[in-house]
Amino acid sequence: MMATTHALAGVALATLLGVLFPESAAGTSVIPIAAAALGGLFPDFDLYAGHRRTLHFPVYFSVAAAAAVLVAVAATAFVPAAALIAVSVALFLSAAAVHSGMDALGGGLELKPWLGNSERAVYSHYHRRWLRPRRWVRYDGAPEDLLVAVAFALPAVAVYDGSVQTGVLAAVGVSAVYVLLRKPMVIVTQAVVDALPASVVTRLPARFVEDFR
Ligand SMILES: [Zn+2]
Repeated sequence: MMATTHALAGVALATLLGVLFPESAAGTSVIPIAAAALGGLFPDFDLYAGHRRTLHFPVYFSVAAAAAVLVAVAATAFVPAAALIAVSVALFLSAAAVHSGMDALGGGLELKPWLGNSERAVYSHYHRRWLRPRRWVRYDGAPEDLLVAVAFALPAVAVYDGSVQTGVLAAVGVSAVYVLLRKPMVIVTQAVVDALPASVVTRLPARFVEDFR
C-alpha cells in the first residue's frame, strides 16, 4: 500500500485514541497524531535499501508497541509529565507495526506488482522468511488503495480542523495523484529502459530495472 495510506492508518489510530480518551495526551495535543503519521511512514524509509525488510518488523514492532502502550498507560496514570512522550512513542510504534502487518495484505515486492508474480510481501525477521502477499489491495497505488486511504482519513477529517485536517486532506490529494500516475510512471520507465543501451542498463541497480529487462 501507499506510504500515505500507512501514514493515514496511523492518524486514524491516533484519532480513535483521542476520541476514546479526550483527556489524555492523544486528545489534547497534535504531537501524538504527528508521531502516529510518522510511524506509519517510517518502515518505507527502507525503500532504497532492502525494501520491506530493513525497517519492516511485523512481529517485533508489534511486541515493542505492546510494551510502549503499557508504558504510556502507566505514564498517563502516574507520571503525567512523561505522558505526552510515552503516548507519542506508543503511537509511533503502533503505526509502524500496523504498517508492517498491512504490507502482507497488499501486493508483492516487484516493480509491476499488478502482475502478481512475487511471493514476497514483507519480511518477518521473527519467522526468518518473507510473508506472502494476500493482495486484498492488489498493489500500491491501486484504486482500492485510495479507497483505504480515504477510509483512514475520514475520522480525522471529521474530528479535527486546522493543521491536522489540512495535513490529512493533503495526504489524500497526494494519494490520488499517485494512483493516477502509478501505471503511467512504470510505462515511461519501461520505455526509458528499452531505449537505453544494454551496457548502461546492466550498471543500474538491479532492483530498479530487473523487471523491465
Ligand atoms: Zn511498507
